[in-house]
Amino acid sequence: MDIEKLKLKAKDSVESQRQQLVQLSLNIHDNPELGFKEEKASAWLATYLEDNGFHVERGIAGLATAFRATYGQGSPRIALLAEYDALPKIGHACGHNIIGVSAVGAAVASKSIIDQLGGSIVVMGTPGEEGLGGKINMVKAGAFKEIDAAMIVHPNTRNMPTEEALACSTLEAEFFGRPAHAAGQPHKGINALDAMILAFTGVNSLRQHIRGDARIHGIITDGGEAPNIVPAHSAAVFLVRALDDDYLAELKDRVLNCFTGASVASGARLEYRWRDRTYAPMKNNMTLAGLFRQNLESLGREVKAFDPRFGLGSTDMGNVSQAVPSIHATIAIASREILIHTPEFAAAAASDAGHNGLLDAAKAMAMTVADILQPGTLDKIKQEFCRD
Ligand SMILES: [Zn+2]
Ligand SMILES: [Zn+2]
Repeated sequence: MDIEKLKLKAKDSVESQRQQLVQLSLNIHDNPELGFKEEKASAWLATYLEDNGFHVERGIAGLATAFRATYGQGSPRIALLAEYDALPKIGHACGHNIIGVSAVGAAVASKSIIDQLGGSIVVMGTPGEEGLGGKINMVKAGAFKEIDAAMIVHPNTRNMPTEEALACSTLEAEFFGRPAHAAGQPHKGINALDAMILAFTGVNSLRQHIRGDARIHGIITDGGEAPNIVPAHSAAVFLVRALDDDYLAELKDRVLNCFTGASVASGARLEYRWRDRTYAPMKNNMTLAGLFRQNLESLGREVKAFDPRFGLGSTDMGNVSQAVPSIHATIAIASREILIHTPEFAAAAASDAGHNGLLDAAKAMAMTVADILQPGTLDKIKQEFCRD
């Protein structure tokens, strides 16, 4: 069967799953679960794949809500990544229900391609994207060791074959001072909150002199007990982000200097820890992106190149992309003025535009699976990956 016929068959398969996929997406949307607690969502997605002939392993890489579902034999092994965690209070405001369901829809549609061309299609159920970095655990545990290429499609307000993402490290900082009556004996106290405010001021000054695409932002999680007690303890969490690991390392030093300087100035002792879960920058494979782009355009969608003015975040897909050739694409489900991580975007993730985005993402991924399995294509993808 020629490739165009294979692609047509894959598109028809996605279309024939429409009702089930939309229902699955709405079920996940109506039952938002936080990272690493996505019991219902991961079970529904895994069961759907199992019912469609996939071999499913649940609870991989030490994560109860991660799974791997495989169809076919041996290499090449192409991974489609499912996310399904929600945000606190605003539910599926990042639209991960669409990511999860488009991956399973594409995987089922890829079965006829695998039957014809060989290899395997693997759905990786990757929990806890929002801040917990589930994929970082999975990469470390070797879940992607035998994967040849990986794709994920995130809902957005634009169709893009790639999306950049910043490397990101998390700093937890605490100052320890000395309590005293704030009016009676203020001269006996050491003010841990003042130390924190000095550190914030230092970071604010630093921000003026860093690269435009880097980001430093944080919150105070403890600022004292009562206004009439000199705060003996303060705590903050900061995120430091940069486009590459080298600049991230430099920024981390400079941010830490703001905290050590504040410690010296205030006399409050500093304790800090960089969380061991660092989100890597996204390394998009442009050969793979070119194939995905053509397929998305063939569905009648206008596809835009990534532009940093659209906004830059971080994703644990970055860590996957450093291990295997990958793309992090986006599919438009809402108009431009709708912001991601808002109740309006959560509504879009359950709208008709959301359902259509889900179906098109699944079709474009399945069609790209057919492209990857053409002779010589995977070599080109891997050559690019090794060159960079
Ligand atoms: Zn998000
Ligand atoms: Zn997201």
